[in-house]
Amino acid sequence: MKFGYFPGCSVLGTGRACEESTQAIVRELGVELEEIEDWNCCGATAYMSVDEHNALALAARNIALAEKQGATQMTTPCSGCYLVLNKTKHYIEEYPAVGNRVKESLKRTGLQYKGTVRVRHMLDILVNDVGLDTIRKHVQHPLKGVKVAAYYGCQTVRPYKDFDQYHFPETIDKLCEALGAEPVHFPLKTRCCGGSQMGTLPQVAQRLVFAILREAKRQGANVIVSVCPLCHFNLDSYQHDIISRFKEDVGITCLYYTQMMGLAFGIDPNTLGLHRNLTWDRSPLRQQMAAVGVGA
Ligand code: SF4
Ligand code: SF4
Repeated sequence: MKFGYFPGCSVLGTGRACEESTQAIVRELGVELEEIEDWNCCGATAYMSVDEHNALALAARNIALAEKQGATQMTTPCSGCYLVLNKTKHYIEEYPAVGNRVKESLKRTGLQYKGTVRVRHMLDILVNDVGLDTIRKHVQHPLKGVKVAAYYGCQTVRPYKDFDQYHFPETIDKLCEALGAEPVHFPLKTRCCGGSQMGTLPQVAQRLVFAILREAKRQGANVIVSVCPLCHFNLDSYQHDIISRFKEDVGITCLYYTQMMGLAFGIDPNTLGLHRNLTWDRSPLRQQMAAVGVGA
């Protein structure tokens, strides 16, 4: 199984644990990722609202590079990158006037956009292509007693529900069961966390994250699992500020789904980048895993 790989710029910075745990999991499961040479930042959703043509051309360049490399499918560990690449492909194919202009721009840089590459979310590949049966076979330490609130964020299944439902996706829930963990009912699984507003309007974003964390705890979760570096950053990094502001203990362990898989597979926590998660140090799950010999 081989895919063109677009890491995205988050995973080279605050999302390094996302990259580290993804790489550990694909190594374990035998998925081959071939990084797209000379890829560029996709501009995220923000650039689309500043200059739609330039934003689409910027993202389309990565797709054209993947095609040039011979990929028929490409993937990324970041939901933001996934949305931008997928949206670009949809726009080029669904709006010919927009698509032709983008193709012309790429042609001037010596690139040809053919539209032959399919954009996939890494979660979709692991659960639906590798499959739950294979994942089950790699589990060495079933995550007994781990109650998971699966948080997809607002971009993983919207506006394109390529592999799950818009409002109540279940892919991570199924993955939890394969790993021996217990998914809890979590009504806020696709609620927006505020994204980059945590940097510009922290009062607003902290309130949104507070609601998500509080609901996860109310539903009995002891872990919240995310699929995107920015969602994870917001849920994991601001708990101290949120608890002191709202005067309610909403503290909970935050993991990437790939870290959760790695723990069940018995992979060393540092290899999974867990030392970078701010909620890991004092996590009861850390002790639980150490007791079975996974990490110290
Ligand atoms: S979505 Fe964000 S992380 Fe991904 S490449 Fe674009 S700007 Fe970077
Ligand atoms: S970071 Fe927040 S705003 Fe961005 S995709 Fe995740 S849930 Fe949505």
